[in-house]
Amino acid sequence: MDQLKNFADNRLLRGCIYCSGTANTRDHVPSKCLLEHPYPPNLPVVGCCDTCNQTFSKDEEYFVCIIESALCGSTDPEKIARPSVARIMQRSPALRKRIDASRTEIGGQVAYVPEMERINNVMLKLARGHAAFELSQPCHERPDHFWCGPLSSLPQENQELFHAVHFQQIFGEVGSRNMQRLLVVQMAQKSETGEQQNVGMLINDWIDVQDEQYRYIAIDDMGMLIVRIVVAEYFACEVAWGLDMSGGDSAVISF
Ligand SMILES: [Zn+2]
Repeated sequence: MDQLKNFADNRLLRGCIYCSGTANTRDHVPSKCLLEHPYPPNLPVVGCCDTCNQTFSKDEEYFVCIIESALCGSTDPEKIARPSVARIMQRSPALRKRIDASRTEIGGQVAYVPEMERINNVMLKLARGHAAFELSQPCHERPDHFWCGPLSSLPQENQELFHAVHFQQIFGEVGSRNMQRLLVVQMAQKSETGEQQNVGMLINDWIDVQDEQYRYIAIDDMGMLIVRIVVAEYFACEVAWGLDMSGGDSAVISF
């Protein structure tokens, strides 16, 4: 990943970005267990307290193991595709047993019923981390919108909006990494009288942390913060803060 400095007001982000307690350690977003060796350079890091760090790492291990079990149809380390996840399964028989206990079959296919509280915990934590690192926005409050699930469960009509780049309307936090990443492009537009004119647009694109493994987009626009994440091109989430759900904001929310 490109190494970008945060020039935004850092007072917003002092302390643990998850619970606003004292930050005595640093946390990778995404956590390394969501990625494979060799890790991409310049992984985002945020300030974090020990308690949050430890709680999340248990849930993250569970998350990567159940995702991989669902993808591979087994908890057997021999059948698990990701080497680092196979190692977790090998050294944590209790975790493997717990996931096996949630095994079921749907239409002849192996499936696992996830512990949603732990999954939600991980996805919300990742979204908060991206909002802090990319947008320089602390998001301690509960989100106004939260969805996560397999990408395939996203209704067809929402898929396009979910995967799309974002056309920035209003500048977000001045100096944030996101502001530095925005691409300026010239696009040809036809006016009502048929004349062609070039219009400058700002594009906020998805960030590929690791191919096929993890990507996200963080948006700060029109008073809203939206983070979308895709893990292993299989599991996705969309989290938003600052939405007036009764208004017309649904146009920017894909689900
Ligand atoms: Zn904390």
